Parts: sequence; structure tokens; C-alpha cells
Amino acid sequence: MKTKNKIDIKRRKTRTVRVGKFFIGSKYPILVQSMTNTATKDITSTLKQIKQLEDYGCQAVRVSVRDKEDALAISKIKPVISIPLIADIHFDVNLAFESIKNGADKIRINPGNIGDKKKLIDVIKFAKDKGVSIRIGVNAGSIRVIRENKVNFLKWTVKQWADEMVKEAIEYVDFFEKFGFKDIIVSLKADDVERTVLANKIFAKKTDIPLHIGITEAGPLISGLIKSTVFIYKMLSYGIGDTIRVSLTDEPYKEVVAGFEILKTLGFVEYGPTIISCPTCGRCEIDLIELVKKVEEKIYSNPILRKKAEGKKIAIMGCIVNGPGEAKYADFGICGGKGKGVWIENGKCIKVIKESEWLNEIIRKIMSF
Ligand code: SF4
Repeated sequence: MKTKNKIDIKRRKTRTVRVGKFFIGSKYPILVQSMTNTATKDITSTLKQIKQLEDYGCQAVRVSVRDKEDALAISKIKPVISIPLIADIHFDVNLAFESIKNGADKIRINPGNIGDKKKLIDVIKFAKDKGVSIRIGVNAGSIRVIRENKVNFLKWTVKQWADEMVKEAIEYVDFFEKFGFKDIIVSLKADDVERTVLANKIFAKKTDIPLHIGITEAGPLISGLIKSTVFIYKMLSYGIGDTIRVSLTDEPYKEVVAGFEILKTLGFVEYGPTIISCPTCGRCEIDLIELVKKVEEKIYSNPILRKKAEGKKIAIMGCIVNGPGEAKYADFGICGGKGKGVWIENGKCIKVIKESEWLNEIIRKIMSF
């Protein structure tokens, strides 16, 4: 299928897998997801975080299920959220059962750390009955041969890592499919770009299963973002990737903004405006950094403003000396001076407005579209 994107790529053809009200696969847009970092049983905090993720446009949310109480909480959370809920399960396959019973749309498991194969088969059958999809997650650090201390991986090449990860993923996929279960999504993750790219490339050639792509434990905001952006760009330029998570050691909503910004830059989606702001210099006499932060938060966290501002370029410049020239190609914006600034529209200086009105004027302008 030919997609409309700036890097002009053809997405790898995959089967379609349903996750709640969304579908994942090459016939559908790439889905952006994130994960809460609250204890799921703390329903109030979890709901607050999911609501914020929804406001920022998140399309599916994963929650940790560490015990029965977490699984039970799903029954309270699910009815009041509007995006699909994915239950993250480790070790205890009974929690997969409980999560499905309580309304999870998808389960994420690493079959390698679920010892009880008989119970896993029961989960596969139960998920099939309930129309719940399953992500099989294989992470480099926890592949079986390493867990069982069977190899000395210290000298492994990137190719050896990728081959082992794929081998394990295919083994699990075969196991699931043996029981007629096809609603599978796979992720192959390492904490570096090279191994993750190669593992996904090898896997993508062998199956039509949709891929959830991302770097695991990517790191703090800046380094995590850089790593994830390079990785996602590489994968998407090969046509691989049906759902993404930009994992960051930061607030979850930032993962959503990052995911959409990467897809927007590559021309896959529209997501709010493009904010053109200067880096500030000695000429700047206002708190531009704070202003830009406020504008960004206000627009991106509000689905109506975000939608209305789609495709617009908003300039926010730190002085009236160079600002107007640099804001020439923006749709509108402000060049700030001490206490007042110049309002620009389509390259022309329109009026002078008070500093206290800058943010409101930007919002008013967006609402006029
Ligand atoms: S717009 Fe003005 S404040 Fe901003 S970097 Fe340029 S000269 Fe400095």
C-alpha cells in the first residue's frame, strides 16, 4: 500500500489486528501509544494520567498488571476511557486471564518469562474467544539463551543478537498460530538502534505480523528522543512499523507528543501546528522559553486547538530586531519586546500588543480558523 508521506515509502504489507476500536497493520495509520507509570490499582492517579494521554492524542495505553488488584482495576478504568487499554503482563499468566476478564483490549506478554505453557495455551484460547489481541514482546536483555546462561553473549555481533531475538519471536509466533491465534503483534527491542533495526528487518521479511516498534529503555528526554527518532526514521524508511512507542524516562504524555512529532516530520500525520521559535540570544528581553512552553502545552493538550492549528506555522520570536524577518514565512506569531510585542501575520507587522495578551492572542487566532 502506498502511503502519503514525505519520505515516500511503501509500507510493508501486514495482516490487520484489532485493538479495541483501532486496527493495527499496513492498511491503517501508524498508531501512537504510551504507557502509564502509576500503580494501576491506584485508579484515581491512573485515570488522571490516561486522561492526560488522551488529551495529547494518545491512541492506545498500556498499564502494568502486577497482581490481581491491578487486573481488577481495569474493570473500573476501561469504561471511562476512550482509547484501547493494553495489559502488560510478566511471569504470572493468571494475570492475563484476569486482565481479559476485566476488559483489556490487548495483552502484552513475553512468553519466555511465562513458565506454564499449559496455562499459556488456555490464555491463547480465552483471548481468541474474547477477540483480544496479544503483543509478543521480545527484548534483547531477556531472551531465553541469556536468561538460562547458555551462552557467552559478551562477544556477540549485532547480527547474532538480531538472529537470536528473531528466532525466539518466531518460535512464540508458531506456538500461538498452532492454536489458531492470529491476532498477534510482535515487538523486538534492544536499547540501541543497531540491534533493534536489524532484528525488526529480519523478522519483517519472514512474516506478515504487524510490528510494534521502539527502543527499550531509550533513556532520558534528549538522548532518548534522539535514539528513538533515528531508529523510527530508519524503520519507517524501510516501510516497517505499524505502531510506535517512544519510550522516555519522563512524563508519559511527552512520549505521545514525541511519537506524533516524529510521524509529522516524516509526513505521516498532521499533529497541531509547527512552532517556529528562536533559540534566544542577548537581544531577548522576555522569558521566551516559558512563553513557548505555555503555548505548546496549551495547544497540544487541547484536541480542539490542536486540530484547528493543524498545518499552521506559528512564530514566537525573542526580539523585534530580527524576529519579524525570521518569522516571515509563518502564518502568524509574535515578536516579543519588553512589555509589548509586534503581532505578525503572513510576514506583515499588524499591530502592537501587550505582553500579558500574547498567549491569549495566539489562542484567539487559532480559534478563528
Ligand atoms: S529573534 Fe532576536 S532574540 Fe531571537 S535569536 Fe534572533 S536576534 Fe536573538
